[in-house]
Amino acid sequence: MPKHLVVVIGAGVIGLSCAVLLQEAGYAVTIVARDFPGPFETTDPTAKINFTSPWGGAHNRWVPPHPSLPSHLERDHRFSLRTYARMKQLHDAQPGTAGITFLKGIEYLERPGPEYLALSPSGIPASSSSSSSADPLPGLPGFRLLSPSEFPADGRVTWGCEYDTWCVNPMVYCSFLLRRFVRRGGRLLARELQRPEEVFSLSRAELGLPPLPARGGESNSSSSSSSNSRGNDGESVVAAVVNASGTGLVPDPHMTMTRGQTCLVAEDCDATVTRQNADGSWTFCVPRGFDGGTIVGGTKEPGNWDPRPSAEVRAELLRRFAETYPKILGGKAELTVLRDIVGRRPTRDGGPRVEGEVIPGAGFVMHAYGLGGRGYELSWGVAEAVVEAVDKHVQKKEAGARL
Ligand SMILES: Cc1cc2nc3c(=O)[nH]c(=O)nc-3n(C[C@H](O)[C@H](O)[C@H](O)COP(=O)(O)OP(=O)(O)OC[C@H]3O[C@@H](n4cnc5c(N)ncnc54)[C@H](O)[C@@H]3O)c2cc1C
Repeated sequence: MPKHLVVVIGAGVIGLSCAVLLQEAGYAVTIVARDFPGPFETTDPTAKINFTSPWGGAHNRWVPPHPSLPSHLERDHRFSLRTYARMKQLHDAQPGTAGITFLKGIEYLERPGPEYLALSPSGIPASSSSSSSADPLPGLPGFRLLSPSEFPADGRVTWGCEYDTWCVNPMVYCSFLLRRFVRRGGRLLARELQRPEEVFSLSRAELGLPPLPARGGESNSSSSSSSNSRGNDGESVVAAVVNASGTGLVPDPHMTMTRGQTCLVAEDCDATVTRQNADGSWTFCVPRGFDGGTIVGGTKEPGNWDPRPSAEVRAELLRRFAETYPKILGGKAELTVLRDIVGRRPTRDGGPRVEGEVIPGAGFVMHAYGLGGRGYELSWGVAEAVVEAVDKHVQKKEAGARL
């Protein structure tokens, strides 16, 4: 029986994770994307500013859900736990090649919200530990509350914790996923699309399929029935499209963009450190590993479309981080700047859109976009949800065809 074909739009961390898992689930998969991962060092910051994945940190920082916070955070926390488990498996199986590093995550908060204050000694969010759910969230690996003597010296931090976590070097990691996908028979098409449903009109050749035999038995690549992706019965051979385009490619009033400025420095760091300041600003570092230096950041600026980095902001980010975690300096006076980074997080009010839709006249589209500042953190959880929904759709169609 031929494999069902699924087309994934997007080769950022979300599209690649979905494509790899769909392959593992037995689908034939083609990725269609405007941008593909490449070496970070030669990625053009202006031309590729709307391709978010190169500009991420990228680390896993737990965001505990809480009844006082939007409910999608409960789902997203489950996605991040699933991602942690798969990152651990990948890291252990491919320690030198996958671009993943396991290390300590340290958090300092000047004004912690209830979601932090309610964390149990194992890091279980209070909403779950107190619920009667048969499926409580597990504790966070290596979680420990810090004592005040471990806080930064400026005296403004009032709460802190540490846990085991992971960081990736984004383009090493995404290139690893891309190579794995291609090696297992995945096909690629470099193409800019206007809408997800456009995929159902791509030709068989564009999707990497052989031409259909013409009705008389001979293959005829020039006839329209053999060159477009619909079979002789008019049905598309594309069983499902996964919309992992970052910003969505569909009108969505909930989509916004959050600019982020960070700075890549040459120094390594022994932990990924995040500080939430009382004024709402953030001070953090993300060691990229694999000779990639460390990201020091960073800003979160909704609606700011300026692609240029600000020298003043850079100076402030570096100063604040060195004060928070002087260990990164290794006794030197200042950090060694390699590059400023400006990226655009595809943010969605109400949380990422992870849901399927049948588009009349086209077919089934599974949306997986709007990951904001958490695409790496949630990637495998989202990909598992995508495979589950595609399976459900395909099984439903097959059951319908048998009636
Ligand atoms: C400064 C900064 C720091 C960050 N730090 C972290 C972090 O520490 N941890 C974390 O988890 N996340 C972090 N993020 C967020 C993370 O980088 C994003 O959530 C993630 O990269 C989004 O991935 P994506 O695959 O959804 O989108 P993208 O990476 O943007 O990929 C979208 C894909 O769709 C394709 N596409 C788009 N439009 C079209 C079209 N019209 N036609 C064809 N193809 C199209 C693109 O070419 C690309 O292949 C950070 C982001 C920034 C900017």
